[in-house]
Amino acid sequence: MDNTLQQLIDMSRYLGDPGKDFAMLGEGNTSAKIDDDTFYVKASGTTLSTIDGAGFVKVSISKVTGILDDPAAGDDDVTRVLKEACVDPSETRRPSVETVLHAILLQFPEFKFVGHTHPVYTNTILCSKSAEDIANGRLFPDQIVSMGPRSIFIPYVDPGLTLAREVRQRLQRFIEDEGMLPLTIVMQNHGLITMADSPKGVISCMEMTEKAARILVGTYALGGPNFLPPEQVERIFSRPDEKYRMKSIAGAG
Ligand SMILES: [Zn+2]
Repeated sequence: MDNTLQQLIDMSRYLGDPGKDFAMLGEGNTSAKIDDDTFYVKASGTTLSTIDGAGFVKVSISKVTGILDDPAAGDDDVTRVLKEACVDPSETRRPSVETVLHAILLQFPEFKFVGHTHPVYTNTILCSKSAEDIANGRLFPDQIVSMGPRSIFIPYVDPGLTLAREVRQRLQRFIEDEGMLPLTIVMQNHGLITMADSPKGVISCMEMTEKAARILVGTYALGGPNFLPPEQVERIFSRPDEKYRMKSIAGAG
């Protein structure tokens, strides 16, 4: 078994561990880039905690993201495109319905692994009236280092293609505004996505987001969160690079 697949299996089992409250049963999905255009993504109907090599499908990034540029495409087309995007034409397993989200992120050379889960405390915030606080508020320095100065917030929209289009559009806007790639994406009434160049990066960011959410939930009982002022957040976070400033994702809109 190749090393990337083994790393992905280990990361997936870790994130799917029932004791961590990130994902249950078939919830959550993960992916890893193989080369510039192909990646492994969790097959539909598999469970992260017990997944093995047979639980992943090899898929083409460009064939998956191609559907986003077709304004006439609907959710029925996603099923067809996901089938066509499988590297092995005789593939019988279906890639996760959230494969498009993974492909959008894996287009970037900086991202090699992606994790998506529905963590309990993060979703406590995301399912509340204070949902945007987890994206925009920062409470302590480790949170800033791990999650970035702010996260992308995706308001609730229909799952599937509508959600994927929303994620791509807000990712584009984030890069334009911040001049960097995001470290975390939070989706209202849904869950969390973390992405990095290693499984360790995906895991630590997910754990820190969940810790921050847990602390945030506690602060509401104690008079409300005392968010760090923006200038402190900026001072603590050292931007990885400036190369994404003014750059845009080809074709995003
Ligand atoms: Zn999900």
